[in-house]
Amino acid sequence: MDINKIREQFPILSIKIDGKSYYYFDNAATTQKPQKVIDTVNEIYSLQNSNIHRGAHYLSNLLTDRFEQARIKVQHFINAEHREEIIFTYGTTSSINLLSYSFGEAFVGEGDEVITTELEHHSNIVPWQILCERKKAKLKYIPLAKDGALDIDRLESLITPKTKLVTIAQVANSTGSVNDVKKVVKIAHSHNIPVLIDAAQSIQHMKVDVQELDCDFLAFSGHKIYGPTGIGVLYGKKEWLEKLPPFMGGGEMIDRVTMERTTYNCLPFKFEAGTPNYVGAIGLGAAIDFVNEVGIEEIASYEKSLYDYALQKAEENTNLLIIGPETGKISVLSFVHKSIPSGDLGFFLDKWGIAIRTGNHCAQPAMDFFGVPGTARLSIAMYNTREEVDYFFEKLKEAELFFGV
Ligand code: PMP
Repeated sequence: MDINKIREQFPILSIKIDGKSYYYFDNAATTQKPQKVIDTVNEIYSLQNSNIHRGAHYLSNLLTDRFEQARIKVQHFINAEHREEIIFTYGTTSSINLLSYSFGEAFVGEGDEVITTELEHHSNIVPWQILCERKKAKLKYIPLAKDGALDIDRLESLITPKTKLVTIAQVANSTGSVNDVKKVVKIAHSHNIPVLIDAAQSIQHMKVDVQELDCDFLAFSGHKIYGPTGIGVLYGKKEWLEKLPPFMGGGEMIDRVTMERTTYNCLPFKFEAGTPNYVGAIGLGAAIDFVNEVGIEEIASYEKSLYDYALQKAEENTNLLIIGPETGKISVLSFVHKSIPSGDLGFFLDKWGIAIRTGNHCAQPAMDFFGVPGTARLSIAMYNTREEVDYFFEKLKEAELFFGV
């Protein structure tokens, strides 16, 4: 992987703020966009814009075609068996809300149970809490173990005949831990329970193959994999999606509407009410092309060596308490400084052009487990470098001097 060539393709990486370079380590929140994605979005708005699907004219047909091509790119990227298993949403949150509503309407009743984990992002907790409240069902959690990793072995004992669905993130945004989702699928399937995987923090860092994982549903956001904001994906096995009712009603999701009743469109359109974010979807297709050109395996191995480097530097600083398990993490380095509050540290580093995120990372139950209100989080992407990591730790040392540590 030629890191300089990659960096050249991200215009934002060469901006200066107050004359200083910008060191972007907030990639778990959102990734920057390569020129290819920017050009694609620009081209559509400049030269091709038109609403899709119902048009009788050239541009509408062109963009409908590009939109459906983007769907096929996503299909191949995650190795889904069928094109219609890819539903475009507005992001991971939107995908999970779609599923929790729709699956919940069809399959969750009073006294039933859904299982999530203590390590989830709020977007894989709150929609299930809302569902459970609506249906008088119960939400259970795979707990974190002492070592800071999920205790996946506890899943078996949490499952009862009332369990309807299990959901888990493949990679935790608050700690970077990689969860053994394959094992979760195996255990759940041995009880005929479907599994949703939140791939928001894995899709950009590792090969995600839905057939190999054998998951029933999977969600991710375009903006975290170098694509535009406002576009996301819900993958679902066709046999499941066919059984689920629509989430939102409106245009495009219908087959026939009379004043009395409506019959619904086929998959995937049944779940894509209204004008979809076709610009975002086509932009996501361009992002996937970009990732494919670099190679997801190359990205994974480059990021691993950079991550290991950063982790080792962090471990050398005895003032840092690294959050999460010791091993089995990628991309996210989450820590608390023994003497400097995370917010103050973030503020200091920002003055030196370093962008990290501080706070609870929308994972308050996990923060409660670790006994901290929040952490400082450095998260890497394919364009980060060792020099940037060195700069970060140099400025961290300066912060310690500044705060009198
Ligand atoms: N799940 C995880 C693990 C995440 O990291 C995030 C974003 N931080 C989300 C879900 C929600 O993604 P979005 O805000 O793009 O909907």
